[in-house]
Amino acid sequence: MNSDWTQCAITPAVSHEGYASLGVAVYRASTIPFENAHAYATRRERGSEGYSYGLYGTPTTRTLERKITVLEQGARTLLAPSGQGAITTVMLALLKTGDQLMLPDTVYPPVRDFADRDLARLGIQVSYYDPLDTADLVERMGDRVRLVWVESPGSTTMEVQDLPRIATLAHARGALVGCDNTWATPLNFKPLAHGADIVVEGLTKYFCGHSDVMMGSITVRDLALGDSLRAFLGRQGLGVSADDAALVLRGVETMALRLAYNARVATTLIDDIRRQPEVARVLYPALPDSPGHALWRRDFQGASGVFSVVFTPQAAPHVAAAMDALRIFVIGASWGGTRSLVAPMPVRAHRTVRPWEGDDMVLRISIGIEGEADLAHDLKTFFEALRREMVRHGTA
Ligand SMILES: *Cc1c(COP(=O)(O)O)cnc(C)c1O
Repeated sequence: MNSDWTQCAITPAVSHEGYASLGVAVYRASTIPFENAHAYATRRERGSEGYSYGLYGTPTTRTLERKITVLEQGARTLLAPSGQGAITTVMLALLKTGDQLMLPDTVYPPVRDFADRDLARLGIQVSYYDPLDTADLVERMGDRVRLVWVESPGSTTMEVQDLPRIATLAHARGALVGCDNTWATPLNFKPLAHGADIVVEGLTKYFCGHSDVMMGSITVRDLALGDSLRAFLGRQGLGVSADDAALVLRGVETMALRLAYNARVATTLIDDIRRQPEVARVLYPALPDSPGHALWRRDFQGASGVFSVVFTPQAAPHVAAAMDALRIFVIGASWGGTRSLVAPMPVRAHRTVRPWEGDDMVLRISIGIEGEADLAHDLKTFFEALRREMVRHGTA
C-alpha cells in the first residue's frame, strides 16, 4: 500500500466506459509520460502530429487545429499565442536576409511596426504596395521577393484586395502568398481557395467571440510547410494552453450564429449612420461605394460586423467628446466579441503608399450581440451629443 504522500501525488485511473460529452476535454500537460525507455528515446519519431511534450500539442489543441483546418479547407493548422504572433511567426520562419516582403499599405499597424523595426534590422527588404492596384504591386516586386502579404479588407479603411490576381502575380515570381483573414473569418472568405498558400486568423476576435482569450492560427495548403512552421514554433518555445484552446472551441460553436446577427444589425445601423449629416462616409465592404466592393461581391460569402465611419472635417474634432454619451457601446480595441465596441483610429501615420484623404481619425465600430434597438438608441444619443458639441464650438 502506498503512503498518503504518494497517494496525494499520483492520480487514480477511473473508467471512461459509457462516458461521452459534447464538450471538448481540457488536456493539460507539460510532461507526457512514456510507457518505456525506448518510447522516450524515440519520441521525436512520433512526427509533427504526435504527442511528446506539452508545448508541442495536446488532444485539445489538436481538436481546435483540426476544426480550423476543415473551415479553411487547408492541410494543416498551427496555433500561436496571438494573431500578431501567428503573423510574425510566418514572416520569421519564411524570410531571410536579402529577401523582399510585400505588405499592403493598409496592413494591421502592429505588423507594419514589426516589419519596419525587426524585419528591417535582420536585413529583410520591406516594401509596401497599394492594396487596390495590382500594377503597383508588380512594379514594386523585385527579384528577391519571397512573401506577398494580403489583408482583405485592410485594417480600418476596409479595402478589399484581388487575392486571386495577386496570387497569380506572386507565384509567377516564385513568392508565397499569406493572407490575414481576421475580419471575414473562413465563414465569409476562404483565402486558400482563392490562391493563398497561408491563411492567418486572429482567433482572439470572432473565433473566441468573448473578448477573453488571445490566440492566432496559421493554416497552410502544403503539409511540408505546415511541418516546418510547427517545428519553428516549437524551437521558439511558442504554444497555447489547453484551457485557452477549449475556450476558443466553445466560441467557434456559435460563430456562424454570431456573425450572421452581427452583419444583419451592422447593415441596419449603417443605413441610419450614413444619413447623418456629420458622416462623410461609411467603409464596409458590403456597401457599393466601399473600396473593392466588386471584389467582395465576387469572392466573399458575406460580411462581418466591423465597419468604419469617416466624419466630416467639421464633426471629426468633436467625436471624442461625444463618445462619453455612449451607454451600451464600449470603448475598446479587440473587436469580434459579444459587446459592441467603438475605437477612434488614426490612419494617416499608417499610410506610406497612398496618402489617406479623409480626416485622420476614423471611428471603427464593431457590432456585438446586444439588442438592435438598444444599439440604435445609443448611436442616436451619440449623434445628439456630437451635434451639441458642434453647436457649443460654433462649428455646426
Ligand atoms: C486584431 C488583429 C490581429 C491580431 O490579433 P491579436 O490576437 O489581437 O494579436 C491581426 N490582424 C487583424 C486584421 C486584426 O484585426
